Amino acid sequence: MSGENSLESRIVTTIERTRTALSWDDLVDEFDVDEDRLDEALSTLQEHGRIRYSGRQGGYWSSAIPVDDVCAVCGGHIDVGEYRRVSVRPRGSTDAEAEAYTMHVRCQEAVTRGWGVQRR
Ligand SMILES: [Zn+2]
Repeated sequence: MSGENSLESRIVTTIERTRTALSWDDLVDEFDVDEDRLDEALSTLQEHGRIRYSGRQGGYWSSAIPVDDVCAVCGGHIDVGEYRRVSVRPRGSTDAEAEAYTMHVRCQEAVTRGWGVQRR
């Protein structure tokens, strides 16, 4: 039972960690599981809107990462793996109210230097 849930969460975690769309072959390589079980996990995740298949990316992609987004700073297109998600949480609000922005790594570095972000 718990093993079933963990396959789904492992798939999402892997996509989000690597910031890379995973093709069927990638998934088969990454998760050493029965292919029917893998197919079922992908269906469940798609039904719940956790992942979607992107033909352009050539694989499954986490819904939490907006592939088609443009950079919040410069407005340019962002390729996979070339961006950061920056979460901005206004003082007094909860984490759930935080707004996430997608931007190029170079833009994030330029902007946060300007913001004077404190490292903790
Ligand atoms: Zn940019």
